[in-house]
Amino acid sequence: MDHRLSPELEDLRRTVEEFAHDVVAPKIGDFYERHEFPYEIVREMGRMGLFGLPFPEEYGGMGGDYLALGIALEELARVDSSVAITLEAGVSLGAMPLHLFGTQEQKRQWLPRLCAGEMLGAFGLTEPDGGSDAGATRTTARLDPDTDEWVINGTKCFITNSGTDITGLVTVTAVTGRKPDGRPEISAIIVPSGTPGFTVAAPYSKVGWNASDTRELSFTDVRVPAANLLGEQGRGYAQFLRILDEGRIAIAALATGLAQGCVDESVKYAKERHAFGKPIGANQAIQFKIADMEMKAHTARLAWRDAASRLVAGEPFKKEAALAKLYSSTVAVDNAREATQIHGGYGFMNEYPVARMWRDSKILEIGEGTSEVQRMLIARELGLVS
Ligand SMILES: Cc1cc2nc3c(=O)[nH]c(=O)nc-3n(C[C@H](O)[C@H](O)[C@H](O)COP(=O)(O)OP(=O)(O)OC[C@H]3O[C@@H](n4cnc5c(N)ncnc54)[C@H](O)[C@@H]3O)c2cc1C
Repeated sequence: MDHRLSPELEDLRRTVEEFAHDVVAPKIGDFYERHEFPYEIVREMGRMGLFGLPFPEEYGGMGGDYLALGIALEELARVDSSVAITLEAGVSLGAMPLHLFGTQEQKRQWLPRLCAGEMLGAFGLTEPDGGSDAGATRTTARLDPDTDEWVINGTKCFITNSGTDITGLVTVTAVTGRKPDGRPEISAIIVPSGTPGFTVAAPYSKVGWNASDTRELSFTDVRVPAANLLGEQGRGYAQFLRILDEGRIAIAALATGLAQGCVDESVKYAKERHAFGKPIGANQAIQFKIADMEMKAHTARLAWRDAASRLVAGEPFKKEAALAKLYSSTVAVDNAREATQIHGGYGFMNEYPVARMWRDSKILEIGEGTSEVQRMLIARELGLVS
């Protein structure tokens, strides 16, 4: 057993670390304050191949895997979470469903531009009436036999990367019929941006992730070809469970990065800031706080890498992914709170990265399955049924 990175992954980690410090850190604060999507940074991430990390080379990917993606996400989120979530959602939610469930034709049509970061894809599961209970989807898609088209009606909310200038598609879940037992049959359908009847609302005003794109989407008699079905009809529910299981590992890596970024900033500040004639970091109370923060970030890292290794090895990973997501998001919030405390009044000023990290941490306990949903999954894996 060896938890250290291979030379290739260490090279990737170092490259993304440098990019985050040299390119993202100096610019992202301004984008964040202006609530503006950082196109120039995302374009650069595309050129580096980050959006293609876990995809095969034949579709323009880098031929890597989920470990590689997690490494990149962790290093980006050490500096900023808006760019990290843009990558996470672009890969795990935008392109991965096409890679896992798409036909050859769908992959050829979409993946090369998604892998290059020239285009972003989105995944529309959550609806205004419910996110955790995603089986209660109300959006419908009816196959029109005369035109061989799906006709989609409904609303999706909180959808990441769905309204940027480079968004090319959103995969939506919709009820396409009833199963023999009366339960809804859910399928996934690709809707290209700009399809008539598909409306993208203005960006939400959010607490955090302010340089990322999140929108409400509505569908009024939206018509797309029958061939835009993703995977098998009626398998949409199973497909998105798989997507979310994998996505949790990516969010766990991102949360670990935020937790580590809080340590980085706190160590630096504790050495610089003086009170009562000495650096605040000379006080054991501050040292112990930072030691606990480091312990949490380190343990979170082991948890997400363990889940990712199981996924890459083709082993079951559902419980480990939920454990990693639950733990890393909890410690991200803990570390962000402590880092802000260590920075005193400056921790409440947006010009300091920890203020951004504090605002960005809370969503990690909510998105891609809340902490309560992770506990439900873990309990179920332990054989406990409600
Ligand atoms: C910035 C942002 C980006 C997002 N991006 C996307 C995206 O790209 N695509 C997408 O589809 N969705 C996206 N989401 C939606 C996100 O995944 C949901 O918000 C999340 O899954 C929770 O769903 P909900 O908001 O409907 O809360 P609800 O499901 O209404 O839950 C409310 C509360 O009740 C709790 N709860 C619910 N059921 C139970 C239960 N059985 N037992 C105990 N507690 C329970 C929840 O844990 C939560 O605390 C995004 C959300 C945000 C805020």
